[in-house]
Amino acid sequence: MPGTLFDGLKQYVGFTAATSAALARLHPIARPRFGAIVDDFYEAIEAHPEARVAITGGPAQIARLKQTLTAWLDRLLLGPHDEDYYALRARIGRVHVRIDLPQAFMFTAMNRIRLRLMEVIGAHRPPDADLLLHAVNQILDLELAIMLETYREDLTAKQRGAERLATIGHFAASIGHELRNPLAVMESSLFLLRQHLGPDTAARAEVAKHLDRLSGEIVRANKTIHDLLDLARNRPPQRTATRLRPLVDSAEAASLLPPGIRVKAAAVPPELTIDVDADQFRQVLINLFTNATHAMSGRGTIQVMADMPTPHAIRIHVQDDGPGIGAEARQHLFEALFTTKAKGTGLGLALCRRILEAHGGTIELAPGDRGATFLLTVPREPRPDDAAA
Ligand code: ADP
Repeated sequence: MPGTLFDGLKQYVGFTAATSAALARLHPIARPRFGAIVDDFYEAIEAHPEARVAITGGPAQIARLKQTLTAWLDRLLLGPHDEDYYALRARIGRVHVRIDLPQAFMFTAMNRIRLRLMEVIGAHRPPDADLLLHAVNQILDLELAIMLETYREDLTAKQRGAERLATIGHFAASIGHELRNPLAVMESSLFLLRQHLGPDTAARAEVAKHLDRLSGEIVRANKTIHDLLDLARNRPPQRTATRLRPLVDSAEAASLLPPGIRVKAAAVPPELTIDVDADQFRQVLINLFTNATHAMSGRGTIQVMADMPTPHAIRIHVQDDGPGIGAEARQHLFEALFTTKAKGTGLGLALCRRILEAHGGTIELAPGDRGATFLLTVPREPRPDDAAA
């Protein structure tokens, strides 16, 4: 009977019960050095802006991560190196994917740990040093293999998402075109109907209610078609240097927000420009503002802020004080057709992600329990490989 993926990997690197035993012998020797190993690991991350960008929570988060890494080292040496171990390590790997840690840092970071553990063995000179060195290399290679697997899973999932969007796009384009004309007819007939009825009859509560309902539903249907066609079109971005503040203002105006919603963008420097397709980026902001408005049931504040996590990127925060997003929804948030709303289409965030990725950027939900904060990162200058996004 074929074993699991982890069994196969262990077999490949020659990892056996004897290897686990050797690692367990190394544990009491290496444990006193864990503090130094962990400090060294995070000093390296802090010294590299590209790696540091993955850590958004400042010193408090680093302190937490250090504890996690210490527990990681304990389990690395003590095992047991079983299927639970694999599942746990794969979960950790997925966190790295989620926070967008560049893959290269996974290797270099692992190598720092490898070197430090080898130094510990070198300094202590136990009689079975060769065996211990061997065991350290084997287990860390297994760790890398598990992480590569999680990056591959992520890539496959993204590819599946893109295919799904493309299929929906093709389908939507034909239906969208078919529905556009009848909707336009309904819109003009409604206009004429109001005129024929005259202002007095049209204003009567039982008539006005139905007329308003008809026009509201026509607007909604048009919006759905507009989103679907946008999705189908998949137009490459036409970038220009665009001032963010006026872009936020125009998105706010176009979102037709109810009076109970305030958009605050005072923290965005007036002169800040981003290199984006203004129409597409406005659409992203409109979708986020609309979602925030729904989440806050029409009353509350949307804050827009901007910072530069690295010299090469601008990050825009769109934050609301609604109920936030639960763990289950977080997993599917950016997938096309995922919605928790009775009248939702589940296209808004999928479109946002597509637009950001076409710009060589990212969109993610910031961790945290209060409200929802979407983080949009765009490169300051276009990258040559953007077209592949
Ligand atoms: P739709 O708005 O049509 O549902 P979206 O793709 O825009 O589609 O959003 C998907 C889902 O994400 C929403 O149904 C909602 O559950 C959740 N969501 C999006 N933005 C927010 C937010 N600001 N606060 C809470 N939930 C949100």
